[in-house]
Amino acid sequence: MKSASGFAAPGARQGSALNVAAVRADFPILKDSVHGRPLVYLDNAATTQKPRAVTDAVTDFYAHGNSNVHRGVHWLSQQATERYEAARASVQTFLGARSPEEIVFVRGATEGINLVAQTYGRARVGPGDEVLITAMEHHSNIVPWQMLCEERGAMLRVAPINDSGELAVNEFARLLSPKTRLAAITHMSNALGTINPVAQLVETAHARGVPVLVDGAQAAAHLSVDVSALDCDFYVFSGHKVYGPTGIGALYGKAAHLAAMPPYQGGGDMILDVSFERTIYNKAPFKFEAGTPHISGAIGLAAAIDYIGRWGKNAIAEHETALTRYALEKLAGIDGLRFIGTARERTSVVSFVLEGIHPHDIGTVLDQEGIAIRTGHHCAQPIMSRFGVPATARASLAMYNTRDEIDALAAALRAVVRMFNR
Ligand SMILES: *Cc1c(COP(=O)(O)O)cnc(C)c1O
Repeated sequence: MKSASGFAAPGARQGSALNVAAVRADFPILKDSVHGRPLVYLDNAATTQKPRAVTDAVTDFYAHGNSNVHRGVHWLSQQATERYEAARASVQTFLGARSPEEIVFVRGATEGINLVAQTYGRARVGPGDEVLITAMEHHSNIVPWQMLCEERGAMLRVAPINDSGELAVNEFARLLSPKTRLAAITHMSNALGTINPVAQLVETAHARGVPVLVDGAQAAAHLSVDVSALDCDFYVFSGHKVYGPTGIGALYGKAAHLAAMPPYQGGGDMILDVSFERTIYNKAPFKFEAGTPHISGAIGLAAAIDYIGRWGKNAIAEHETALTRYALEKLAGIDGLRFIGTARERTSVVSFVLEGIHPHDIGTVLDQEGIAIRTGHHCAQPIMSRFGVPATARASLAMYNTRDEIDALAAALRAVVRMFNR
């Protein structure tokens, strides 16, 4: 398997600006039209588009490499197993984990969080205990903890955010009590774009003996992630938000945690020996991967990680941050527009409301222009109530977006304002 670092794409030089035109050429869908207009895809926080390198890797596996893993002596099965395990090593490098055994393949961030809640959480959280989250979490990092707390008779505590959409770090520290068994925080908010000071939060929690799970579903696409430097206990992300396939993602867990955790689901592959009297479980990470895994998904995810590596996370982040700044400037002048989320540390997500116009109407009008944005609560209803809005419109950026597309968005929004304020 090719490593993430062993590539030099045309136009991609270390430290140089991202060649966005070359990037766009790799994504077939970006040449498509919607309602007769060129597609302007600004819904990347929901899912990213896929480069040909990813779709080719998946197609090629099914066309020429297909076999089940871990159970075959025949050549194809060995090849499939090798590629599946090489994908695990790619994810390890992508996250900065110390060993591939710390990487568990899951369906995505949601399943990763549920896995931790139902194994580590269930074993650790008891009556009267507390789990601490923040007010800017995605439903995926709220509901699994609510379910756990309900089952175990524990309390869910929520660290508040300020009017800019930044976590109140002092409040977070104050809410870490002797009863806190676990903290679960997002690295980057999908609704506001806020980047949390995760290393600092982990340090604060660890000083009180509280382990930390980090939801990296947004951050993995936009920031360089190093779980060893962050020192977090768990980290989750989804393949489909980093240009990879849907249905695949990864959970990072510190080796000592994974070794001590009970299995999540029972079935094939997660066992060493089974009789009707007792079962001996496999070691981590296989202990957590019951049944036939999403082999092509893992291979596609590795191709996506390679693809990101070819351009470089730093160049991508620089482009996206500059484009976010440009979007904020362009949209700021629009009549009646109010940004939801104005954190100092933020990237790639621009949420807003237009006075007197329902976000769904904005989304519908923009769609007619071929512009895809998301409108709604963005799976973060508590944030909407925090800002006193039922929904927002959200433009979210990826490595292939351009200033021209932001200009198209701004022009379309101006037209919406004229249309509804006649
Ligand atoms: C998308 C997202 C999730 C959920 O990811 P899935 O791929 O749907 O499992 C969780 N947290 C954040 C911050 C997200 O953006």
